Amino acid sequence: NPIISFKHVNKIYDNGTVGLKDINFDIPRGQFLVVVGLSGAGKSTLLRTINRMHEITSGEVLVDNESVSDYKGKALRHLRRQIGMIFQNFNLVKRATVEKNVLSGLVGYYPTWRCVLGLFTPHDRKRAFQALDRVSLTKKLFSRADELSGGQQQRVAIARALMQDPKIMLADEPIASLDPRTTKAVMDTLKRLNREDGITVIVNLHSVELAREYADRIVGLRSGELVYDEPIDQVTEAG
Ligand code: ADP
Ligand code: ADP
Repeated sequence: NPIISFKHVNKIYDNGTVGLKDINFDIPRGQFLVVVGLSGAGKSTLLRTINRMHEITSGEVLVDNESVSDYKGKALRHLRRQIGMIFQNFNLVKRATVEKNVLSGLVGYYPTWRCVLGLFTPHDRKRAFQALDRVSLTKKLFSRADELSGGQQQRVAIARALMQDPKIMLADEPIASLDPRTTKAVMDTLKRLNREDGITVIVNLHSVELAREYADRIVGLRSGELVYDEPIDQVTEAG
């Protein structure tokens, strides 16, 4: 069964803008899905309905066969822990070390104040090192985040998301501000997490060319509608 299902999902913003229009499709567990479309097509909105950063107007988003719309409190926190997310602008604390940034991924396990005060156990720090190892950046552990290249910063953001041990990784235009070389490092990292750790990866991209290089499947949005759905590969379901 699919890890995520969209069933007649509509999203209309408060000002009347249509974000999503009758979206219907399933995402199998372990898929590397790329969502393409012009700016304003609804890619970011689509991604954000999965972890409830945006509320839908009607329909259902199912994660592991459960509708997430009514989740509150503990259930919502649990949902968000299962779903890592990275953004175009990395959202790192620029003046903090790479290690501190990665450890801040434990927000959600710990109260925020514990993270702010830096109360981490040796076990946490070991996990941060391991997360950085997954993105091949252990050598930058004690560098300041703003000393790194854009591509390295994005990989730190991925490591931070890995601290939650997510089943799903959402990447909203993760390479939009990167050059081709660092783009490859970031996309390769996402691909490795997908292939080696079985994380279901959903990436918003502008470039169809890049999508073809990495995706198991490409879906296209236009004006909030799903207008295109192309399997690149036959994906086997892991359960
Ligand atoms: P994409 O990620 O493909 O660029 P978005 O999901 O960001 O597209 O936007 C889809 C549509 O919804 C666009 O018309 C955009 O302007 C609009 N939109 C996005 N966020 C908001 C918001 N908070 N309020 C109103 N309209 C929004
Ligand atoms: P991006 O394309 O990188 O997602 P945007 O400039 O589309 O960035 O959006 C930046 C912020 O403004 C987001 O929080 C988005 O939800 C909001 N936003 C986007 N379009 C609109 C809109 N038409 N009206 C109000 N808010 C919007």
